[in-house]
Amino acid sequence: SSLFEALAPQPADALLALIGAFRNDPRTGKIDVGVGVYRDLEGRTPVMRAVKEAERRLLEEQESKGYLGPEGDAGFFEALKPIIFGATDHADRLTGLQTPGGTGALRLAAELIARLNPQARILLGEPTWPNHHPILKAAGLELAPYEHFDVPSQRLNFAQALETFNQAKRGDVALLHGCCHNPVGADFDAAQWQALAVVMRDRGILPLIDLAYQGLGRGLDEDAQGVRIVLDVVGEGLLAYSCDKNFGLYRERVGALYALSRTADTAAIVQSNLLSLARANWSMPPDHGAAVVRVILTDPALTEDWKAELTEMRERIRSVRDLLAAADPALAPLKGQQGMFSTLPLTPQQVARLREERGIYMPPSGRINIAGLTPDAVPAFVDALASLR
Ligand code: PLP
Repeated sequence: SSLFEALAPQPADALLALIGAFRNDPRTGKIDVGVGVYRDLEGRTPVMRAVKEAERRLLEEQESKGYLGPEGDAGFFEALKPIIFGATDHADRLTGLQTPGGTGALRLAAELIARLNPQARILLGEPTWPNHHPILKAAGLELAPYEHFDVPSQRLNFAQALETFNQAKRGDVALLHGCCHNPVGADFDAAQWQALAVVMRDRGILPLIDLAYQGLGRGLDEDAQGVRIVLDVVGEGLLAYSCDKNFGLYRERVGALYALSRTADTAAIVQSNLLSLARANWSMPPDHGAAVVRVILTDPALTEDWKAELTEMRERIRSVRDLLAAADPALAPLKGQQGMFSTLPLTPQQVARLREERGIYMPPSGRINIAGLTPDAVPAFVDALASLR
């Protein structure tokens, strides 16, 4: 008998199964709104122009692949700061490190929280990115879910967030989507961020903000509004950042974890803990993608080109949202939502019907990737949805 027999099989990733089924579907006009990557008008997930140029330069100019250390590429980490935090220089109070993607940043944040307060509960607005649960639980943290968004009415439940925060214990953690909420697209406005930040400050709740789509919602600065308000009001917090969507670097695994502390002395202790946790997890992050981002952000012309292409991507998503909203009153709420994702009020049976009858692919949750639609495909998509009513 095998020594591995004690293992129970685990469910496969639902989205990966969907990719295979879509590929094998012979129908022309089939639509994939399942997979969560940006797609252009030709349905491709392109390597961005500035990324290609930065890679060319790295290939020519890189002189060593010697180890950098658990903090990764310090130039990358510094160059991202003004993009995220704007003009505010948090100086020695802001520390952190490069991580393998936003996922790595979240995992490290969770382990830091488990180390500083094993009793911390994570206040988590639902529905959320399904990977949040296993990442937080892997660090041994307790989750305290509340309703962020009501899918049938497509309404953000701000009152529920406020009430949950008002009942939290000192040392609890609020995990918040910085912008372009995955999977519902419903973000807080500035006044709501401000109100939540005041409660977090007054009750001693540590903010953990997940910013994975900066620039794909309203704009680079606009999408960082929540982060900036919260850190300004609360004065400390964690930010898990991903460059994998806004630089199109997905498989290169580019992320960072930023920690803002109240004093430089505390910040140094936080940093030593982050470095030791990184060493125990992955020792050092992969280099290439972060080096690409550093090359782009330290060259004004490449930065401009990256911003221009990011704007094209954002506007493409926006235009499809506008088309959907204009085509059917039932889809009107999608216009006010941000980023690539929305979740339609569909049952798993209806999702299966769309796949079988119309060749439209999405996970059973009804989450759709807006960038999976081209303007040409919108009428067929809207018609298929209407056929369910
Ligand atoms: N956070 C959210 C909300 C996400 O949707 C994702 C990716 O889908 C991530 C974090 C992780 O991104 P990465 O691919 O950089 O690990």
